[in-house]
Amino acid sequence: MRIDGKTISMQVKERVRMQVEALKEKGVHPALTVVLVGEEPASCVYVRNKVKACEVCGIISEEIRMSVDTTQEELLAVVNRLNADDSVHGILVQLPLPKQIDETAIIRAICPEKDVDAFHPVNVGRIMIGDYDFLPCTPAGCMELIHSTGIDVSGKHAVIVGRSNIVGKPMAMLLLHENATVTICHSKTVNLKEECRKADILVAAVGRENVITADMVKPGAVVIDVGMNRNAAGKLCGDVDYAGVSEIAGAITPVPGGVGPMTIAMLMQNTAKAAEKQNL
Ligand code: NDP
Repeated sequence: MRIDGKTISMQVKERVRMQVEALKEKGVHPALTVVLVGEEPASCVYVRNKVKACEVCGIISEEIRMSVDTTQEELLAVVNRLNADDSVHGILVQLPLPKQIDETAIIRAICPEKDVDAFHPVNVGRIMIGDYDFLPCTPAGCMELIHSTGIDVSGKHAVIVGRSNIVGKPMAMLLLHENATVTICHSKTVNLKEECRKADILVAAVGRENVITADMVKPGAVVIDVGMNRNAAGKLCGDVDYAGVSEIAGAITPVPGGVGPMTIAMLMQNTAKAAEKQNL
């Protein structure tokens, strides 16, 4: 079964649109500000898609574009101004940032209540203990996709390939909160194939084409492909060999049309929640 992230993301956005409408009736107008430093093409596309999704959900969006030679102090000044602005509920600084800027310092500067990416250490810690307002958008989107298959996560063996702070680690935590038995693999994992073959739920978040092939997948497994890579022909592709693995998997996400649209939908959900928490 192909998991249709595009359709599921539209359902999430419709849910958010209704929530936003209800908030507006109470005088709260959810607003997201996205800060883009430089003109990295992929980042420009992401920002454009985020702004478009805001329109669909009725969320006010503001885009702040800053030049590639912006200093850390200049960016911090913008973040501080947005932190203090009551009409802004969500702040998202598009990563990656140019090398003269310390990403960690910027993430820490965003007020945790407005941190709709859920990257601030306070929000990361809250996810760890299972007491959170926001979930990081990509792992939260993956959970929605997993749920859409009807699988009961409890007691299943979940394997995540990749241990980044934004995808792999929080993904492991969310699956653990739902009582999966979780294995996290990475570049030093010995016998990746054997580990992956144990998975009832396999999440690939590596950033390398074809790192997961059919011989690494247990028949019937749910396979979530987070990867966003360009193949030799310049076409967008994931980490999973879709053609081969879809023959074996019980359910699988395509790239594009899988996790990508869900990440943006979950950002909308976090922004609506931020507006609600800050006002009601
Ligand atoms: P990172 O580069 O931060 O992390 C990659 C992880 O993969 C690391 O933990 C690394 O291990 C591991 N890894 C690398 N090579 C191998 C290998 N051969 N075998 C096993 N593990 C390996 O990437 P991100 O987590 O930020 O992103 C992962 C992918 O997901 C990228 O393609 C990115 O573009 C995509 N992405 C997609 C999103 C979406 O909305 N669809 C959102 C965010 C990311 P180690 O730690 O040992 O180095």
